[in-house]
Amino acid sequence: MKILVLNCGSSSLKYQLFDMTDESVLAKGLVERIGIQGSRIKHNRASDEPTIRETDIPDHTFAIKLVLEMLLDSKSGVLKSLDELGAVGHRVVHGGEKNDRSVLVDESVIKDIEDCTYLAPLHNPANLMGIRAMESAMPGVPNAAVFDTAFHQTMPPKAYLYGIPYRYYQKDKVRRYSFHGTSHAYVSSRAAVLLGKPAESLRIITCHLGNGSSITAVDRGKSVDSSLGMGTTPGILMGTRCGDVDASVILYLLEREGDPKRVSDIIHKESGLLGISGISSDLRDVQDAALKGDSRAMLASDVLCESVKKYIASYAAVMSGVDAIVFTAGIGENSDYTRREIVRGLEFMGVRIDDSKNDGLRGKEAFINADDSKVKIMVVPTNEELMIARDTMRLAGK
Ligand code: AMP
Repeated sequence: MKILVLNCGSSSLKYQLFDMTDESVLAKGLVERIGIQGSRIKHNRASDEPTIRETDIPDHTFAIKLVLEMLLDSKSGVLKSLDELGAVGHRVVHGGEKNDRSVLVDESVIKDIEDCTYLAPLHNPANLMGIRAMESAMPGVPNAAVFDTAFHQTMPPKAYLYGIPYRYYQKDKVRRYSFHGTSHAYVSSRAAVLLGKPAESLRIITCHLGNGSSITAVDRGKSVDSSLGMGTTPGILMGTRCGDVDASVILYLLEREGDPKRVSDIIHKESGLLGISGISSDLRDVQDAALKGDSRAMLASDVLCESVKKYIASYAAVMSGVDAIVFTAGIGENSDYTRREIVRGLEFMGVRIDDSKNDGLRGKEAFINADDSKVKIMVVPTNEELMIARDTMRLAGK
């Protein structure tokens, strides 16, 4: 079966086409600047050079029409007919409390996604546009919704409740949801395979460290705590998001700036690595500047490493121990320096890195712990698209 995976943002659309007989990627691409001047599609077939087409792309329906044309194109295409497409999997950011797993889309699922829009106002409407556009382009082909929040729905109330009056949870479902669930699910299950043990026997801490980041405690295959929250700013320091801050700081900013929208921009777009360093939200730029002696860049990198270290230690406490720590996403997969600084000082917990295995390791599955380390330390590149394709195939095959 061939499965198309779509990740729709408000002005962009990423896609990958999988052949599920061997889980290979036949083609992938990106539509950018939907509804904005200068829109274009960049399409890659396996290892070919990308095909780029610049054209007006007024909306998601048109974007999807272009994607399907590219997939069928006699030169850049990989399909002879759209009949080969078995199903479409959509990344959907928020599924609320109701959706604890991936589902086939019907009208009640669409209503659930709409109902969760107040929790993900930027993402859910864009995800819905993709679903609607696909339904009209290919009626009868099943669409599956794979939620970023679903994996974390196993968190117990003691992990997801905030210490504010309970009525806000009862009435408005104000609680921790956390995100990147598809990534945490993928890397924790892959880690279990690499460890040669059933996921149900392992306590794993997964560190998804990218531009957006989250840490998850995966206890015997289930998420029991995770560092993002009702929104996407808490937890560790991110590219432009602030990570954990005292609620009083937000109240202070509100008083000082006098405008909630302005404060929202500060904590989402002007904080994190960028906010502290004043240089960049990209860790490579920040660490380059730190190497040249920039003290604020050094501080930004230090705050990031320290915040991850604290989450690892506290999640080990949550699970009464830890068998493996897994690093993934842009920073986790590529930055040997950051991995080393994070685990430095955790030797008391039985965590010992082997510098010769860690140094220079980029984007590859590997164990980087010392042979005598009680806790395994692993790098596992994430693959959210494959996880979405697998869920979609399972649902569509039923
Ligand atoms: P992602 O959001 O997963 O694409 O991750 C983006 C982040 O990964 C950015 O902060 C990049 O600077 C960071 N990153 C990618 N490669 C490296 C590297 N070799 N060293 C340090 N950071 C890296």
